[in-house]
Amino acid sequence: MRWTYSCPHCEAMLNPDETVILLAEQRSDIFLVGLHPEPGNYRAYMPPGHEVENGSRWNFRCPVCHHNLTAAIAPDLCALDMVSGGVKHRVYFSRTAGEQATFVVSAEGMERLGTDAGSHSLEMLELI
Ligand SMILES: [Zn+2]
Repeated sequence: MRWTYSCPHCEAMLNPDETVILLAEQRSDIFLVGLHPEPGNYRAYMPPGHEVENGSRWNFRCPVCHHNLTAAIAPDLCALDMVSGGVKHRVYFSRTAGEQATFVVSAEGMERLGTDAGSHSLEMLELI
């Protein structure tokens, strides 16, 4: 597996198969979503019958410990831990449906992915 994701709070592995499984929540609507594991690939898999409106803002929770994954230092983004090639990263991605903004932070620096990444001010992330 090229990318292994885990919850920053309970360390549960979040992609036991291929997609990264998270609880998606907006008001009373709660369901499991599968996200493509490749940073910058915005393919998402949802249960039949669920529509996600572009521009809507979602809470994502760990399906194991239910902790909210919103990043404390960047409330527009969610944060997950990810290991790739033996290197630890923290991956931040937008909570807004349809917005393509992902930031992959490791000890070596930060990679910005997605067409909307430029609209986020991320001085805080660069300090990590
Ligand atoms: Zn957790």
